[in-house]
Amino acid sequence: MTNTIDRIISKSIPEPNTGCWLWEGYTIDGYGYASYKGKHWLVHRLIYKEFVASPDNFNVLHKCDQPSCINPEHLFLGTQQDNVDDMIRKGRQADRKGINNPNYRHGGRIEICID
Ligand SMILES: [Zn+2]
Repeated sequence: MTNTIDRIISKSIPEPNTGCWLWEGYTIDGYGYASYKGKHWLVHRLIYKEFVASPDNFNVLHKCDQPSCINPEHLFLGTQQDNVDDMIRKGRQADRKGINNPNYRHGGRIEICID
C-alpha cells in the first residue's frame, strides 16, 4: 500500500508550544525517513515539495532547529552554505550568552572619564 501525504502527516505529533509537527516514524540522524510513491524520502523534504515547491538541489532547512519537524511553515530553502552559516550563527549565539557576549554589560554603571 502506498503512503499518501495524509498518512505521512498522521505519523507526526503536533507540539502545541512550538507548533512543530514531530515525526514519530523512522529517523536517521534525527531526520524523518519514509517511503512515498516507491521512493525513499527525507520526510521534511517531501513535505516541502508537496506543500510549497520542489526543493531541487537546495537544502530544506528548519527555522525551528528541530530535525524531526515536518511542519511546512517551519521549513525554508537554503544552499549548503546557508546551512553552514545558519549553524555558525546559532552556535555563536549560544556561545555569546552572558559574559561571552561582546555587548554584555555587567550590572554596574558605565563610567566615562572626561578629564
Ligand atoms: Zn518545527
